[in-house]
Amino acid sequence: MAYSASVLRRAKERLEQDRQAAASADERRISAIYEKYPRLREIDQQLQSTVAKIAFAAFSSGGDVHEALEKAKEENLSLQQERSWILQANDLEEADLERQPICPDCGGTGYVGEVMCGCLKELCRQEQKKDLSALLAGRETFDGFRLDYYPEGEIRRDMERIKTACMDYAKNFAPGAPSMLFTGGPGLGKTHLSACIARQVAESGYSVVYDTAMQMFSDFEAAKFGSFEEDRRAKTEKYLQCDLLIIDDLGTELSTQFTQSALYRVINDRMVSQRATIISTNLSPDELKERYLPQIVSRLFGTFKLRCFRGQDIRMLRRMKGAQE
Ligand SMILES: [Zn+2]
Repeated sequence: MAYSASVLRRAKERLEQDRQAAASADERRISAIYEKYPRLREIDQQLQSTVAKIAFAAFSSGGDVHEALEKAKEENLSLQQERSWILQANDLEEADLERQPICPDCGGTGYVGEVMCGCLKELCRQEQKKDLSALLAGRETFDGFRLDYYPEGEIRRDMERIKTACMDYAKNFAPGAPSMLFTGGPGLGKTHLSACIARQVAESGYSVVYDTAMQMFSDFEAAKFGSFEEDRRAKTEKYLQCDLLIIDDLGTELSTQFTQSALYRVINDRMVSQRATIISTNLSPDELKERYLPQIVSRLFGTFKLRCFRGQDIRMLRRMKGAQE
């Protein structure tokens, strides 16, 4: 799962904060117990040092290491016994004096070997959701996608099929899912459905980037002129690496050689690495063919599933309806 650099950084910061908070809570709890039962502190300190101390003494005096260790073991045993008596007498648990890692799987480092641990993944998911909700205002739902705004008959049936396809897509999303191209005039629900997909796919733990075409191109532009290689990469890598990229309103940007090559790169890179992309546009298929390079058009129509939104501008209908009521 490829989360953007900023999501990953924030998630790691939170994990580190959680780890520190848990560690100081452990320290506070343990010192409070030691404060109350100073003998426990003494015992624990002795237990930690005896083995090393005696082994060292035996080594340096040339004595019998085995004998010294046996002696240490015995001493430890009686200390441990005294310790458990004190614990029992005061209703304390063994665990009360232990430092617990915040995550038993990774010990709070966020990784098990090379693999990202579930605890860090969960934090990434939450951080990414924050980004998405800020962007999507968090109101669109599949239930809120009202089919009665579409003219009865063929168009409404088409739109019902599109809605169902989008719900299935969001529910079954997995790496290698197909890409989709939403076309149709403004106010026909393209943004609404892509927002629902974005939220649900992110909810399932995949990395999702949702942005307008304008924003994406301006990030590529900024990356081109950034002074540090790392900043430059951070600006654009999220568009290339996320599991699902949703580009809203393609065609509103000023078309230049630069935007064409950036778009080609995004579409082609993602196609090659089998990452899904959803593009929505107010342009018709013919207008797209006119506006974009043949290499872009052939990929859009060759590998994206085309979804043609039809009907009347819903935002306008809503407004008219509101005026009547
Ligand atoms: Zn973990």
